[in-house]
Amino acid sequence: MTENANTQQEKASILLIYTGGTIGMIENPETGSLESFNFRYLKENMPELKKLGCTISTYQFDPPVDSSEMGPEGWRKMVEIIAGNYPLYDGFVILHGTDTMTYTASALSFMLENLGKPVVLTGSQLPIGMLRTDGKENLITAIEIAAAKENGLPIVPEVCIFFENTLFRGNRTRKVNADHFNAFRSYNYPPLAQAGVHIRYDTTQIYYPLLRKPLKAHYGLDQHIAILKLFPGMSPQVIENILNTPGLKGVVMETFGSGNAPKDEWFLRMLKEAVERGLVIVNVTQCLGGCVEMHRYETGKKLPEAGVISGYDSTTESAVVKLMFLFGQGMSAEEVKEYMNCSLIGEITIPDK
Ligand code: ASP
Repeated sequence: MTENANTQQEKASILLIYTGGTIGMIENPETGSLESFNFRYLKENMPELKKLGCTISTYQFDPPVDSSEMGPEGWRKMVEIIAGNYPLYDGFVILHGTDTMTYTASALSFMLENLGKPVVLTGSQLPIGMLRTDGKENLITAIEIAAAKENGLPIVPEVCIFFENTLFRGNRTRKVNADHFNAFRSYNYPPLAQAGVHIRYDTTQIYYPLLRKPLKAHYGLDQHIAILKLFPGMSPQVIENILNTPGLKGVVMETFGSGNAPKDEWFLRMLKEAVERGLVIVNVTQCLGGCVEMHRYETGKKLPEAGVISGYDSTTESAVVKLMFLFGQGMSAEEVKEYMNCSLIGEITIPDK
């Protein structure tokens, strides 16, 4: 455990990328709904930014977007901005809507190979111009984390999400509440830091690359992926339609508990046929925490026999984006299965055999 080393006072340089989200929104006086606004508005409402001991440069998405509209194109743009400015900054802070922040964080964790600097995503539940906003604290602490160094090296050289008091590994995080300030959780991986009076980093949980290699930015993402969420009484036709979607390459199947699904003959047959056609079907749990163990119950055992592979303790978000990423590298289904079985950047825990 390391306390905030406070070394960011040595004028760290931070690139603040504003993509949109509630943090920078204002209320439309006519409709009453929240709309994205210009970055200038954000800076005017945060004079505190000038007081931080860092040099902060800014980049704004034009137009800023609600994160429901964020996707591969926006992720590529973020990767491009980070890769293009990589040598110039000590860390990167991304202001992003909370709704799909976990997808973006997962995507960036795969797309920025050999990352050696902090990329901290944050946002807020209330716009920064509102009196009770959570945005100011989130932003200030995110900048401190992105600037924090120890012995001249970044303390958190990975893609992470800072929200309320906690720093999470980005590809392990889930948005769990639409109202609370404390909106994110990581059930299968401990927090990387807790911010109270001090920022306490758990360096035993932070990912430190063994070798420092040059950043490699990836842009290939294949969107022929679907999520199949099982529920009791699901009709064969719905499952058949999803599995037969033209061009589909990968499916994240959200199953019950530790990876269980009905044993109906028609269901297992459809899965088997889809796998034989070359589809990669990854089993993740619908539970917020825990790991898929298909051999634990009779109802799970049949799935590997049909060719379904384990997603271990992956979040759905991370599994979806990992499939997009792996197929986007031009890999075959067999290669994708192999990589889904490995942790690329701390996104899953592979149990000891
Ligand atoms: N709808 C907003 C978004 O995700 C919510 C937020 O920023 O918290 O962009």
